[in-house]
Amino acid sequence: MKNPSDIRRWLSPASALVLALCTFATSAQQPLKQTEFNANFGQYFSDVASDELQGRAPATVGEERTVAYIEQNFKRLGLLPFANTSYRQAVPVVQIDPVAVSALTFSGDKLPKSLGYKTEMMAWSTRMLPQVEVKDSELVFVGYGIVAPEYGWNDYKNIDVKGKTVVMFVNDPGFATGDEKLFTGKAMTYYGRWTYKFEEAARQGAAMALIVHETDAAAYGWNVVAGTSPIRFELSDPNKNLHKAAVEGWVTTESANQIFAASGQTLQSMRSKALSKDFQPFSLAGKASINIKNQIREIDSSNVIGYIKGSKNPDELVLYMAHWDHFGLDFSRKNDKIFNGAQDNAGGIAGLLALAEKFQQGPAPERSVAFIAVTAEERGMLGSRWYAANPLLPLNKTVAGINMDVMNVYGPMRDVQVFGYGASELEPILDKFAKAQGRYIGPEPTPEDGFYYRSDHFQLARYGVPMLYARGGVDSFAHGKEWGLAQRRDYTSNFYHKVNDEFSPAWDLRGSQQDLWLYYQVGHELANSKVWPNWYSGKEFKAARDASLAKP
Ligand SMILES: [Zn+2]
Repeated sequence: MKNPSDIRRWLSPASALVLALCTFATSAQQPLKQTEFNANFGQYFSDVASDELQGRAPATVGEERTVAYIEQNFKRLGLLPFANTSYRQAVPVVQIDPVAVSALTFSGDKLPKSLGYKTEMMAWSTRMLPQVEVKDSELVFVGYGIVAPEYGWNDYKNIDVKGKTVVMFVNDPGFATGDEKLFTGKAMTYYGRWTYKFEEAARQGAAMALIVHETDAAAYGWNVVAGTSPIRFELSDPNKNLHKAAVEGWVTTESANQIFAASGQTLQSMRSKALSKDFQPFSLAGKASINIKNQIREIDSSNVIGYIKGSKNPDELVLYMAHWDHFGLDFSRKNDKIFNGAQDNAGGIAGLLALAEKFQQGPAPERSVAFIAVTAEERGMLGSRWYAANPLLPLNKTVAGINMDVMNVYGPMRDVQVFGYGASELEPILDKFAKAQGRYIGPEPTPEDGFYYRSDHFQLARYGVPMLYARGGVDSFAHGKEWGLAQRRDYTSNFYHKVNDEFSPAWDLRGSQQDLWLYYQVGHELANSKVWPNWYSGKEFKAARDASLAKP
């Protein structure tokens, strides 16, 4: 797309009516406040969710149109471009397709001869190499595979796992026991996420990292592990991702039982060992081998970044973030081929534009404020990961940020659900402005699912930047909690990541408007102050923030 001004032509003008319906729907009973934050929000929302943007997949025509649309609006709103004259930040992505994966084979008495791909184990390599092999690699059990100084936990103590195959449980000891004194009890920590476990195994030098799949602890069944596309997306790396373990993967509970049995153990005996702080990792009987052939394709995608320069402290930054990408087109489908990703996450991009517009209507904030539309969230949060490594201003000059991913379209809510609740000093600020709206803040309903670690804010949080991810929950002003919960459940089972996540004129966008007002107030206060909110002590990202702030 050469000329961004052509964009409007593709976009249906129908949403003027939509907007009218949404903004002025009847609302006799509620003490509603700030539900008309931005009159253009509904238009932005339906524009970004429209068929013309083809489901917004990275490196497609859909990307070009989406990026051009955001860019054009940033320009119209008078935001400064990220780099000299361009709002685009190039993000190098690599697509790794494991075209041939051998069985996982073993040498050693009592071990199964092999475990079958997808049926008994799942394996892949994120190394950018056409062929990856692990041969006769010693098996080592490393408990939960966690090194967490703030919880006094180290599953790799007194052992060298270089070149070895580590086997470990998913989630963390707090989840397994429900003990609030172990990690954070049932609520998942980052240490419980499988992504963390692979990172730690790589830091320890393991050749292969295998996680034991358990439906409860993983929060999804084996069908999700084995049934979703095996194609991996990663940031393209000049060193070919050789810093990662050669092979990453999962084994089924049944397979793990067989591996443990060969060493005279059971799943239960291994779990009870792993739940102890004094756990000592140990070698298992036998050695493992596997061979993977990859097809590698490099892709260019872009984050879109605009900002307002601070009037007093331009070198300090408050940021808003939302991912623009979704799953694109699927030509194998019979009828609807477009994954519009309306709730996920056209609404977030609409929110980003609405916030930029609001900031531009007032005097310049004292600190700089950035609006970051990131790519490839659906491919593993790659755009935000790239931004964190290549930020507009250094991360220790980044005060805090707010991420939007799936806006509330079910009307005004009394509750504001804070994902990863109880984490940082951003929460009292949010609480103050929520109260001013007649609302209250509280935890997400299922902290054991670890949603805090599953969207873009996390990529900055892990480097210590305090990041807020919160939105209107289920306590509907008009219809009550049961109704709100039913809407959420309906979305999760019938719309989430499906082609029917489409913009609906029936949505009540006053809920999003209410949340945008909150996001604006929190960001505005931070941008016009000297405060440096931090994580609460004992939280997993505090050490990273303290270390980063200590640097000049
Ligand atoms: Zn999303």
